[in-house]
Amino acid sequence: MNIVVCVKQVPDTTEIKWTENNTIQREGVESIMNPYDVWALETALRIKQQKPTTRITVITMGPNQAESMLKKAIALGADEGILLCDKKFAGADTYATSKTLAQAIREKCPNFDLIICGQFAIDGDTAQTGPSIASKLNLSQVTFVERIKEIHDNHLVVKRKVDCGAELVEIKFPSLICVLLQTGETSRVRVEGVIKAQNTEIKTYTADDINLSSEDAGLKGSPTYVSKAFRPEQRGECEFIENIYELANLIGGENG
Ligand code: FAD
Repeated sequence: MNIVVCVKQVPDTTEIKWTENNTIQREGVESIMNPYDVWALETALRIKQQKPTTRITVITMGPNQAESMLKKAIALGADEGILLCDKKFAGADTYATSKTLAQAIREKCPNFDLIICGQFAIDGDTAQTGPSIASKLNLSQVTFVERIKEIHDNHLVVKRKVDCGAELVEIKFPSLICVLLQTGETSRVRVEGVIKAQNTEIKTYTADDINLSSEDAGLKGSPTYVSKAFRPEQRGECEFIENIYELANLIGGENG
């Protein structure tokens, strides 16, 4: 079984700064693997535990520094890392991002059975990339996946979160799932993993390498225009009461 996991490097901060073009300032900010993608990778690793011939490719579109995240994914158990890195990709909105990822998967991983994305990236937070990749590759998709319940040769049974509970869905390969954060521990890096990561070369591709035209990449390929980005002003005043007995007295007092 061949699994592609889409992983995104995100700033390790809630203090997002903006560039003059209203895009997120990434330079000079510590980066981490998007927490939802940690679970996307973990989901693939658990499938591999049950089906040891599984091959896991991690892919990201990002700057050169994203290579370290791919190396960490290999240290954790992925087999191969693909970095899509080109000045032409800069300024991509979710449409151009998913078009680039879909085209790279089509060109470089055509024999995939399953694509796993995180449900959200904690910086952009649109949850559009996974479903958009699925639509560009004409795949069935399941979003809000909480857990994989069954793994078969040609399909999965997954549990997905819905407003009033959960659903069990059967999905045939090839397909795409978007996973939520889960409870429990994720895999840890072992010494053999670190050695494997050191000896595995990350494959780096430009727009030309994946046959993506400049018109479809980055800012040029992005129909979204961000006119203004701002932090909403805090409205109203609120009082924090930490002592619940004080709160009870206050309510009791008001009610006589
Ligand atoms: P979501 O859709 O919430 O992510 C869901 C999942 O998709 C992730 O968990 C992951 O599995 C996958 N995924 C998302 N992004 C990637 C990726 N890059 N590689 C691999 N997997 C991924 N961002 C910049 O960094 N630089 C810019 O210059 C820039 N310019 C922008 C310009 C415009 C006009 C707009 C609207 C956005 C811009 N962005 C830029 C933000 C960028 O478009 C989003 O970060 C990106 O498209 C992913 O969307 P998201 O963060 O909402 O991810």
